[in-house]
Amino acid sequence: MTGKLETIYAQTLTGGLTRPRLEENLSADVCVIGGGLAGINVALGLVQRGKSVVLLESRCLGWGASGRNGGFVLGGYAAGPYELYKKLGASQARQIYGLTLSALKLIRQRAKDFGIPCDITDGHLKCSWYDEPESQKKTVDFLKENFGENIEFWPREKVRDVCRTDRYYDAYFYPGYFHMNPLGYIQGLAGVIESKGGRIFEYSPALAVEETSSGSRVKTASGTVHAAHIVYCGSAYFNGLEKRLSRACLPVSTYVMVTEPLSREKMASAITKPYAIRDTRWTDDYYRILPDNSLLWGGRVGLGTRVPANLDRAMLGDLLKIYPQLEGVRVKSAWAGIMGYTTHKMPHIGRLRDGVWSCTNFGGNGLGPTTAGGEMIAAAIAQGDETYKLFERFGHQWTGGPLGPLVAQGVYYSWGIADALHETGNAFKRAQRKKAAARRTAR
Ligand SMILES: Cc1cc2nc3c(=O)[nH]c(=O)nc-3n(C[C@H](O)[C@H](O)[C@H](O)COP(=O)(O)OP(=O)(O)OC[C@H]3O[C@@H](n4cnc5c(N)ncnc54)[C@H](O)[C@@H]3O)c2cc1C
Repeated sequence: MTGKLETIYAQTLTGGLTRPRLEENLSADVCVIGGGLAGINVALGLVQRGKSVVLLESRCLGWGASGRNGGFVLGGYAAGPYELYKKLGASQARQIYGLTLSALKLIRQRAKDFGIPCDITDGHLKCSWYDEPESQKKTVDFLKENFGENIEFWPREKVRDVCRTDRYYDAYFYPGYFHMNPLGYIQGLAGVIESKGGRIFEYSPALAVEETSSGSRVKTASGTVHAAHIVYCGSAYFNGLEKRLSRACLPVSTYVMVTEPLSREKMASAITKPYAIRDTRWTDDYYRILPDNSLLWGGRVGLGTRVPANLDRAMLGDLLKIYPQLEGVRVKSAWAGIMGYTTHKMPHIGRLRDGVWSCTNFGGNGLGPTTAGGEMIAAAIAQGDETYKLFERFGHQWTGGPLGPLVAQGVYYSWGIADALHETGNAFKRAQRKKAAARRTAR
């Protein structure tokens, strides 16, 4: 993962988007470290509240997970709703989850108000890998009742009108969720930050932070920023700049592939609607049709930060397992990205000490939550708002240091095993049901 950002999103950007390196000594109210969605959302929230901001990015904006992700925009966090409910109880779980549902509205509003071209497309279909409609219906009721989700149960006949595969059974449909080009969105927000006086520097890694009597001094190779507040937004790309955050962050790689554009007929032989689609396994596939009628396909997680050999072939293999009728499609591009995971799968949104804040480690669900996190931290710094305190109880547990990635791989394999067991259990139940039906007919 060196050089420039090579994703299809980067190819959609047009000219004039590079920012300068920091080569001077500056002062600001706030210095934001990291130019992914978290850093950009914090910076935007701050300039909108009248604060002066300098944002430092090691490489280019969106270099990390934010410019490489699947572009699915959904409610909730990497920790699922059942986990939140169990840990926090009904009322607090709903409150903390609700922040992300509001964030989805804010993303739409910002894209519209600022005229950001980021291809927002509605609808999110989560297809069941297992034959268990009753448990699916219960989940729909649970999410409606406890989290106020706008969600529908779809029977399998309806699912198969959209996904022409017999791998799926029933599904949940979220009409209010959407997908978009995340890098286009980041670039659009960056333009808004600059139009309001914020300063953004690329290829300017923060190398050291010195806390002073009136704030912090952040040093880069050729400049400094002195600020009353700093916000750490470096996620898995941080490399130990702030020890408490780094030791509580487990870097987990995951992958995306994009096909060459398909003919309308070929695409429709497999997928007939431009929704964000995924399945219900722990180790799920997720995919969506892009504006040029190519297919973006994401999935798998990996050990460490190395991009596996033959990634494109492996991802294509995953696609053909679901849609063998797409045999013959060609891969245009495949890439890896690294997510920052915590032990509890909830982000580190909060105050580390006076004038030192974090908005980071969002794991595999970041588009909605980074927007919510950005608003919380900006409101805390500019207005003394204390919503961020909802996240204090999650803490900064150690993720295992060098052994962490091994543990993560083990967990991923165990998820794979759990999926396989679940599938075997279902097949067994189906066989039992068939036998019972045959016995009834014979009688
Ligand atoms: C392949 C993939 C697919 C995904 N799909 C989805 C999806 O469909 N939907 C969804 O919601 N989420 C998805 N995610 C997760 C989501 O992308 C992340 O949760 C989110 O982007 C995290 O944003 P961030 O700003 O915290 O981190 P990042 O985007 O990783 O940004 C951190 C930035 O900080 C910079 N940085 C680090 N250290 C320094 C330093 N010392 N000085 C200056 N800059 C520094 C890095 O260069 C980097 O640009 C996916 C992630 C991956 C990798």
